[in-house]
Amino acid sequence: MRLDKMTPEQRARFEAHCAESKTKPPYACMSCGKVLLDPGAPGQLQFVASAVRIPFFGEFCSEACASAFERDYGILFRRDGSGKVSYV
Ligand SMILES: [Zn+2]
Repeated sequence: MRLDKMTPEQRARFEAHCAESKTKPPYACMSCGKVLLDPGAPGQLQFVASAVRIPFFGEFCSEACASAFERDYGILFRRDGSGKVSYV
């Protein structure tokens, strides 16, 4: 679908969708809620360096928050030899 072929109604719906996804960043720490990547914010195109990412599950701002989540929910993430969460 081309943008210039949209009906006014389709365009309004599309713009509402874009505005909504800008106000709700998809990537926030699952433990403390800190925003890790906000595509709507200028200059925020990469995850913060300390971010811990778990494929198909979620993101944490730090190892500490990942550990807190494990404790709170009684789950265990995969870790490498140094004890860091590792899904590489
Ligand atoms: Zn956190």
